[in-house]
Amino acid sequence: MRDVTPVYRLGLDVGGTNLRLGVFSDLRLIEETRFEANYSAICKQHSPAQAWQKIIAVTAEAIQPLLEKYPAIQSIGIGFPGFIDPHTGILAQSPNLPGLLNVNLGHDLGARLGFNIRVENDANAAAFGEFSLLGQPAGGLLYLGLGTGVGAGLVVNGHVWAGQHGYALEAGHIIVEHQGRLCGCGNHGCVEQYASATGISKGYAELTGQTRSALEIALAAEQGDEHARAVYADVGRKLAQMLASVLKVVDVGTVLIGGGVVAAWSLMSEAFYQRLEADLIPVLRGKIVVHLSRSGDIAGMLGAALLAESTTRSA
Ligand SMILES: [Zn+2]
Repeated sequence: MRDVTPVYRLGLDVGGTNLRLGVFSDLRLIEETRFEANYSAICKQHSPAQAWQKIIAVTAEAIQPLLEKYPAIQSIGIGFPGFIDPHTGILAQSPNLPGLLNVNLGHDLGARLGFNIRVENDANAAAFGEFSLLGQPAGGLLYLGLGTGVGAGLVVNGHVWAGQHGYALEAGHIIVEHQGRLCGCGNHGCVEQYASATGISKGYAELTGQTRSALEIALAAEQGDEHARAVYADVGRKLAQMLASVLKVVDVGTVLIGGGVVAAWSLMSEAFYQRLEADLIPVLRGKIVVHLSRSGDIAGMLGAALLAESTTRSA
């Protein structure tokens, strides 16, 4: 008789406020839960050592009910914002979670839950999730995530390419404006300061003196606000400028753009394609296929779950 025992995998997508947990059977989402983990607040309110213990406790508390409900969960993977050593899983630093230095989430959480847990950079996890949902394109995939910041991930030969130290594809910090806006990384003019939700708000404030969210600016653009339209066109141009630079290095034919900002794609696409074609080396022109994410934002959880496939219950 065929063994029909289901195999489930759990994937976590860690944000500054929300923790999202997805139970997957292959590529199918069985159940998603959201947990207000408030990692950012925990990091601000406690010493680094105390904050770390709280983060482990809160994360374990979020996972435990799903492990009880789905005993068939075989592996746990986590997409985490920050610089993660691809060999040891040690988080060297997380720019949005200050104070967390050289901690090992997979080890510390795994010891508590009885699992081997794999932790990946969140953009790498999303890249792998989207790569899988697109049917694993043979030439690989370059992923760009436009959210609060700009993340990127690269999948080649079926594997995430994280670089020697886990810092590859920091494409959000490619400089697209000489002496431009100051970035959290210390440089000026990084694309993240323009093509992210926060960058869009900054662009609109510079032109009008008004503070609006990226979504409000998109609605204003659709109603004919010229400043709002100019901001989104500039996002399209700067994104394409960065992408053309990356493609000159990695030559991947399939690009996928995800993240909340993509909802306003129609406001930036014309400027984006014009600039992309102009900036690419001529032999690559017309050869780049750009997809917009259709995953409904589950790619981060899915990728984390799939990347943990090789790890299993340790107890
Ligand atoms: Zn930067």
